[in-house]
Order: sequence, then structure tokens, then C-alpha cells
Amino acid sequence: MRIVVTGGAGYIGSHTCVELLNGGHEVIIVDNLVNSHREVIERIAQITGERPLFYEADATSDLAVDLIFSTHQPEGVIHFAGLKAVGESVQVPLAYYRNNLLSTMVVLDNCLKHGVDRFVFSSSATVYGENQVPFVETMELGHRTNPYGETKAICERMLTDVAEVNPQLAVTLLRYFNPVGAHESGLIGEAPQGVPNNLMPYLTQVAKGVLGELQVFGNDYPTPDGTGVRDYIHVVDLAEGHVLALERAEPGVSIYNLGTGKGTSVLELVEAFEKANNLKIPYTITARRAGDIAECYADVRKAREQLGWTAKRDLTEMARDAWRFEQQTGKNNS
Ligand code: NAD
Ligand code: UDP
Repeated sequence: MRIVVTGGAGYIGSHTCVELLNGGHEVIIVDNLVNSHREVIERIAQITGERPLFYEADATSDLAVDLIFSTHQPEGVIHFAGLKAVGESVQVPLAYYRNNLLSTMVVLDNCLKHGVDRFVFSSSATVYGENQVPFVETMELGHRTNPYGETKAICERMLTDVAEVNPQLAVTLLRYFNPVGAHESGLIGEAPQGVPNNLMPYLTQVAKGVLGELQVFGNDYPTPDGTGVRDYIHVVDLAEGHVLALERAEPGVSIYNLGTGKGTSVLELVEAFEKANNLKIPYTITARRAGDIAECYADVRKAREQLGWTAKRDLTEMARDAWRFEQQTGKNNS
């Protein structure tokens, strides 16, 4: 298939482009590089031996998206483009609502206009809010604690309403848990700007000596060791999930959790990272971070049964690949 990938130069998008190209699909990346770099396109080409088409363009621009769609007549779109920093979304909510909602509207509108029937959307486990674990797709969505999470819930709703009156549309909402790790080549991975907010990139920067020590945000949660529990998933597993979701898309709305189904605490992740890479991570326990929940992990049965997808890579591979990328490429990528 010929697929437009918005945000394809980003962390999850770039890994998905690799899997799409490996699977024989044609890839057209639309990215304004607000949180990524042109160099990533070269690296995708280096890994796969295929050069994706690339437009440096804003997915909120109807003019740009219309032109790209009419030029290439894609058969599907994966819409990764979006802003994703939870803390920043509290500081500048309008930028988040504008970018995340408008880009989704513009891309969806152009799907309808150009007869593109497959729309895969990057959603997040954050839409579950504080709910009983494991989170299952049929649950009522919970209270979102920040504008970022709210944009994901609104986009899900918008896509669902539009699909209802456009029966040819196959909308797939993929709710990611905690993507970590990098491609085994070490050429693409997560290279956040500034001090990382997320645990794994923070760990790799402590390991590198860029940051002094890890702060563990709270050890008084109702979890086995008191630290927060998350469902970490290797980004390549996640990328493979996108290809299957796209290939198996059926008219209507399909929602899938993409996680491992296994909860891991902060201290367990630190330990796995130390073991996998044979190094020590200094840490201190500090106060809880505002807005954090105790536990978040997926019920993964639906993706397994309906897409034939399961996450294959374990914590050791996640830790090893994240560290390889940090050493080999890391900040030079940004
Ligand atoms: P990322 O920032 O690495 O990638 C997003 C890409 O979109 C970047 O390359 C950025 O330049 C681009 N972009 C942003 N706004 C754009 C616009 N208006 N037009 C064109 N390009 C634009 O983030 P990621 O981690 O790869 O996340 C991809 C998607 O998955 C996002 O929608 C994010 O909200 C969602 N998601 C991410 C996580 C996570 O933990 N990484 C979890 C759940 C959901
Ligand atoms: N966390 C931490 N120190 C950090 C970053 C994160 O203790 O420097 C914890 C955080 O409280 C949560 C887990 O690690 O329990 C995962 O956090 P992350 O920001 O990576 O993902 P999310 O909060 O989106 O699940």
C-alpha cells in the first residue's frame, strides 16, 4: 500500500516507517520537524535500503495535505504528528489543542476528500485516566489530568463520530502504553530535546553521565515496591503493531491496546537496565510527580486475537537497545 505517515520523522513514526518499508509498502512522510530532524530520513533509508518520500510540511495546513494527497493518492494514513509533552501541555494548552486537534481534522478531512479509507491514529493509554488495571478497550474512559491527554480523547471521539457517518472508513485507534527502546541498528531512537521527562531516556542520560542521578518519583504507591508501575513496550514491537493494524483494517472503528500486558515498577526497570548493560544507575527517592497514577498496564487480548499481534521483545532488549542508541547516536541525532 501507499501510506502517508504524518510525524514519520519522530520516534515512533520513524520505526514504523522502517517496518512499513520492510513490509513492502510505499511511504510518504509528512513532518514539520518541530520535534525531529531531517537526518532521520537518511537513517531510515540506511536501515531499509529504501528512501521514503519526505515532505517538510505541517499537518495542520490544509493546503499542504491536500496537495500531498492529490499528488500521491495514498491508500492509508498513519497520523503520528502531534505534540506529546504532558508538562508542556499544561503550560501552553492552546498550542496542544491547536496542533493535535487541527492536524487530525485536516488529515481526516483530506481522507474523506481523496477517498483514503484507512486511518490509523496514535492514541495513548492516558485516555483511560485512573481506572482499574489492566486497562481494557471496552472501559469507560477516565478523567484526564492534562490537556495532552484531553487532545487524544477528543481526537478519538472525533474520529468515531466521523466514521459513523462514513461507513467506508476504517478508523483504528491505537492506545500505546510506554514505548521505549530503539532500533537494533542504533541509528534511530528517542532523542528528546532538553532534560527528558520520561524514565527510559532519563536513565540512558544518567548512564552516559549527562545527568547526575535518577529521581524516583515516589515510593509510597500501592504497588509491590511502592514505585509507579507501567507497561513498557519495545518501539519495534509497537511499529509492527501499526503495520498489522493497517493491513487488517476493517470499515468502522477498531480500538487496540498496544502494550505487553505486564506491569514493571520504576525500580524493576532500573534493575533491568543495570543488568542488561552491566552498569550502575545512582538514584534517590523523591516526592510523587503531580498527575502520575500508581499503575498502568494493558489487557492485550484484543490485539492478539484480532490482529495476531503480541509484543515479543523483553525488558532486557528494551534496555540494551535504548542504551546502544544513546551511546551511538543519541544527542547527535537531534
Ligand atoms: P515525536 O515527537 O518523536 O514524533 C512526533 C512527530 O510529529 C515529530 O517528528 C514532529 O516533528 C511531528 N509533528 C508534530 N506536529 C506536527 C505537525 N503539525 N505537522 C507535521 N509534523 C508534526 O513523538 P512520538 O513519541 O513518536 O509520538 C508519536 C505519536 O504517538 C504522537 O501523536 C504522540 O502523542 C503519540 N504517543 C506517544 C507516546 C510516547 O510515549 N512516545 C505514547 C502515547 C502516544
Ligand atoms: N519516573 C521517575 N523518574 C523520572 C521519570 C519518570 O520516577 O525521572 C516514573 C514516573 O513517575 C512513572 C514512570 O517512571 O511512574 C514512567 O514515567 P514516564 O514519564 O516515563 O511515563 P508515563 O508517566 O507517561 O507513564
